[in-house]
Amino acid sequence: MTSELPTTHLKGVGSNLAQKLTKLNIESIHDLIFHLPHKYQNRTRVVPLGELSAGMEALFCGQIEAASVVYGRRRSLMARISDGTGWMTLRWFYFNRNQQQRIKRNFWISGFGSVRHGTKSLEIIHPEYRISADEPDDITADSLTPIYPLTEGISQTKMRDLVNQSLVYLPDLEDYLAIESLTESLPNLTKALQRVHFPSDPKSAMTLMQGTDPAQKRLALEELTAHHISLKRYKRKRQKRQSPSLSAGFAQTSQFLNALPFVLTTAQKRVIAEIETDINQQLTMQRLVQGDVGSGKTVVAAAAICQCIGAGYQAVVMAPTELLAEQHLTTFKQWLTPFDIKITWLSGRLSAAQRKSALDAAASGTAQLIIGTHALFQDAVEFSQLGLVVVDEQHRFGVSQRLALINKAAPGVVPHQLAMTATPIPRTMAMIFYADMDVSSIDELPQGRKPVETVLVSDTRRDELIHRVFNACQAGRQAYWVCPLIEESELIQAEAASKRAEDLTKALPNLNIALIHGRMKSDEKNTIMRAFRDHKVDVLVATTVIEVGVDVPNASLMIIENSERLGLAQLHQLRGRIGRGEIQSCCVLMYHSPLGKTAQKRLSMMRSTNDGFKIAKYDLELRGPGELLGTRQTGLQQLKVANLVRDRDLLKQVESLGKVLMTDNPEKAKGLVDRWVKHAERYADV
Ligand code: ADP
Ligand code: MG
Repeated sequence: MTSELPTTHLKGVGSNLAQKLTKLNIESIHDLIFHLPHKYQNRTRVVPLGELSAGMEALFCGQIEAASVVYGRRRSLMARISDGTGWMTLRWFYFNRNQQQRIKRNFWISGFGSVRHGTKSLEIIHPEYRISADEPDDITADSLTPIYPLTEGISQTKMRDLVNQSLVYLPDLEDYLAIESLTESLPNLTKALQRVHFPSDPKSAMTLMQGTDPAQKRLALEELTAHHISLKRYKRKRQKRQSPSLSAGFAQTSQFLNALPFVLTTAQKRVIAEIETDINQQLTMQRLVQGDVGSGKTVVAAAAICQCIGAGYQAVVMAPTELLAEQHLTTFKQWLTPFDIKITWLSGRLSAAQRKSALDAAASGTAQLIIGTHALFQDAVEFSQLGLVVVDEQHRFGVSQRLALINKAAPGVVPHQLAMTATPIPRTMAMIFYADMDVSSIDELPQGRKPVETVLVSDTRRDELIHRVFNACQAGRQAYWVCPLIEESELIQAEAASKRAEDLTKALPNLNIALIHGRMKSDEKNTIMRAFRDHKVDVLVATTVIEVGVDVPNASLMIIENSERLGLAQLHQLRGRIGRGEIQSCCVLMYHSPLGKTAQKRLSMMRSTNDGFKIAKYDLELRGPGELLGTRQTGLQQLKVANLVRDRDLLKQVESLGKVLMTDNPEKAKGLVDRWVKHAERYADV
């Protein structure tokens, strides 16, 4: 196919530019055709200032009413502009003398930028702009402006030119989904691609911006089907692999379960049975256990581990953070040493000699259970007879990362695989992103849990809350103070948290207050979390880094600032850090008034339920899967056009298309996967 030609075949592409393009996974002209705009800018209309709202990207034009340099926390140049319908502020943190002289009262300024809430009005920071003495003539564009993902050294203009050149090869493309009735109502592949790259029809502007245009639907259908097939194929491939049957180990599991100090929930029993059925067979288990925070996933994993060890094989537990791994170590030691099970700890903090002895134990088989962070398993660890790999907090890992982890953990052999996540995934989404796994749900909490009480408090009452923290700590409890800042930047978040820690230290001189944030080294973070766990710290001021499952039962109070800006799934995860002990816990959602309608609804939702599934479902509808699955979900970020919430209606079709293609047309199925999921597929071939 001529579209398989290398990019150097295009005008203006030398080896240098071709090299840069590979950073975007673009190697051929075909790849360029499928390098889709990730959004559009609407420069076809000047938005009257009175119609602006936060979150919008807009073409604006207005007359400068006042401009001056202001000295707040950071020096900035501000211009207030108006157009008769309303006004807003433009703001520059970086500016030179020349700019300062040109941005002056009575001049006209027009341009483009994203609108956000400022201190006094809506504002645009660092807009693209032009100054003129008189009201400018028409500044609008004829059609939507597609915006492409870029890499260093390639501009939008260049990218647009390259895509434009590539579209000549459109007729070469094979339309894999040209299957009778299944895609009939949507435009064909060529039309769809043309429209998303060159949206010339002004009528489709709205739908394209929203991502609901039939052209986008058509491509989303391809993309989702490709991902679905890729995982299915991966599953099939692995299913053909043999893993050891662990049926001989069940006596060990029974012993373990009988010795537990609590009664298992019905859901736990059911999931344990599902896992048992899997690992009794010689086919590789690939099971995901999802269950709300505190639903008791660890004990379920422990049951499987016992069976594995009882059958004479080794088991591995991987956690995303050192602290969580350490917590597992403590739990498993407590549970399993009575049965004489040998546990080995693989930590970044081991001395060279300790590490060597741990590795030796794994290789010789004297270690029966090996616990550590996933990072530690990325170096070659050898096992004598590995039977089971448990991955905790699975949602922290993307699809490809997950596959890579398992492959690295056990080169050569295929252990059974058990993943655990506290992020509930609706069935439809699981179908696409966990199609290579079977899913079990622990949909019930152990009896006798005191649900966390949740209250909403305006941030004008901060002093009262400080007092409340004081009281809790006086009574021997501990508290979290979370300040997730609105800013994307970790630096600014860290600054805000530091500032809050300082304030609290001043206000509460008798308490030990510690700070933890994402810019600290992981060693530092671990030390602080450990101190908090051991009650050497009363109040932990944190950004959202504490989200992942650390168990400090004595912490009974959590204050979350700016709660209205956080996703519900994230709030729920945060809140899950408390309510882990006997004490009645309280979560205070601090907000900044006035609360919008949606914000009010969302926060009341948090107040009215502790059910993670309900919350996740609601959040999914409001904000999309990125929030639910976490931004680190690399697998999801690779989606080019599809959006699992917006395109929910396609999922049924995806399933049937997947089936048809895989059974009747394996060649087409492969072509589709190669087109959309090159990288994931590479893992599948390992
Ligand atoms: P998560 O699902 O969030 O990982 P854990 O496995 O850490 O939850 O369990 C939370 C706590 O509940 C642990 O202290 C665990 O020992 C306890 N637990 C688990 N199952 C039960 C049960 N059926 N009854 C009472 N407590 C339980
Ligand atoms: Mg857990």
